[in-house]
Amino acid sequence: MGNNFQFLEVERHNPQKKEAKVRIKEFGEIYGDFNGERAAEQADRCLHCGNPYCEWKCPVHNYIPNWLKLVSEGNLFKAADLSHQTNSLPEVCGRVCPQDRLCEGACTLSEGGFGAVTIGDVEKYITDTAIEQGWRPDMSNVKDTGKRVAVIGAGPAGLGCADILVRNGVKPVVYDRYAEIGGLLTYGIPAFKLEKEVITRRREIMEDMGIEFKLNTDVGNDIGIDELVAEYDAVFLGTGTYSYMKGGFPGEELDGVYDALPFLVSNTKMLLGETDSRIDMKDKKVVVLGGGDTAMDCNRTSIRQGAESVSCAYRRDEANMPGSKREVANAKEEGVEFLWNRQPVEIVGTDKVEGVKVVTTQLGEADERGRRSPEPIEGSEEIIPADHVLIAFGFRPSPPEWLTDLGVEVDDRGRVKAPSNGNFGFQTTNEKIFAGGDMVRGSDLVVTAIYEGRQAAQGILDYLDV
Ligand code: FAD
Ligand code: SF4
Repeated sequence: MGNNFQFLEVERHNPQKKEAKVRIKEFGEIYGDFNGERAAEQADRCLHCGNPYCEWKCPVHNYIPNWLKLVSEGNLFKAADLSHQTNSLPEVCGRVCPQDRLCEGACTLSEGGFGAVTIGDVEKYITDTAIEQGWRPDMSNVKDTGKRVAVIGAGPAGLGCADILVRNGVKPVVYDRYAEIGGLLTYGIPAFKLEKEVITRRREIMEDMGIEFKLNTDVGNDIGIDELVAEYDAVFLGTGTYSYMKGGFPGEELDGVYDALPFLVSNTKMLLGETDSRIDMKDKKVVVLGGGDTAMDCNRTSIRQGAESVSCAYRRDEANMPGSKREVANAKEEGVEFLWNRQPVEIVGTDKVEGVKVVTTQLGEADERGRRSPEPIEGSEEIIPADHVLIAFGFRPSPPEWLTDLGVEVDDRGRVKAPSNGNFGFQTTNEKIFAGGDMVRGSDLVVTAIYEGRQAAQGILDYLDV
């Protein structure tokens, strides 16, 4: 990847700084020129402390100190082999995991102000550089079992599952309704956090390993699920969560109000040349509602589209924001104005949106999960002017309708029941069907979806007795 510094400059109105030229950090600046020297420098910092908390905190339990040692010794291909033993997409996790609350947050060096080993950077460096130098997964010992599994959904869960199946001689055929693999990696997470070429390159590697992709194929519309269940030895479902949470206040249906994901997807599809129009924030006053990472992606994408101003309203204070600290800091630096302790109560306007009515909140008693709930302060209403509003309140499970006919049960929140500790890991209530990722645990992380896809593949291998 090398040094791919790229700065964009956007003229925009910033209420605090008057007319400002905002310098936007692109991927290269965030990671810098993370070359072999810097990777070795970081790897050398590992204390090999004997209690690898970083490994335990990492959801796929990467052998972190071991691959850091291999990097120190300059043994990059071995490090790539080892890294792929536990993770199907290490170069992706190195870029998008919230390391501050996972591996790096658990690094012994992070205590006492020494700064954690930058594990994510090294993980990304190992795979990017090894691939660039010709490393490929070793498939020479794989024996074909003659079994075939349909994987529905080419997101991280589906890809994790397909990776383990193919390495064990089971042919995965992966169906996805989109034109490229990756699910939210491609169509949700913006390119300034995860470059789209990374996913294309991974598709090519996976195809060479023997994974077949049937893209632009919507299961349930273009092909019947019954057909797949009859044709294949087992089926894995990894179709994610795609119902948007609503605020439940007046005005959400006004022209100019958008859900976060359609906005981000339209931006990516235009980038990929799949469409020539997008939901556009150029020269608009944008208000983003929400405090998670999806809200940060909306903030930063709006800035890149050339919004006149971007304000982000969140109902708790900064300390209680769910978004990663790194993303909030990036958004601030790029000129996003944060309005903490503001709860939206109405989107105002006649034909189209003109503003968002908010009340100021103060934090009350902690609930059973320890989160203090925001309480409105009487008489504190104000209107934030807006041309466009983006709603980023998260996602609810959206189980496909055809699940019921298959006897696949969901829980009271709509999540597919596929326990990790059943007869076979991640088996649903239909013995031939397995599931994992966001559709099972609810909207979560890339790395947990990969883990569940891989674990479900192990469940399928046990079920097929291969
Ligand atoms: P998905 O990634 O949603 O993939 C599901 C796939 O199934 C899709 O490709 C979809 O097209 C396909 N599909 C669905 N139904 C059908 C059908 N009927 N037929 C064929 N195909 C179908 N996590 C992080 O760790 N770090 C981040 O920085 C981060 N940023 C995020 C930003 C945004 C905007 C969003 C929305 C999420 C973000 N996440 C992030 C969360 C992460 O992307 C998800 O947890 C993860 O992608 C879930 O993986 P999955 O495989 O379960 O589902
Ligand atoms: Fe850290 Fe994520 Fe990599 Fe695990 S997968 S080592 S949590 S960056």
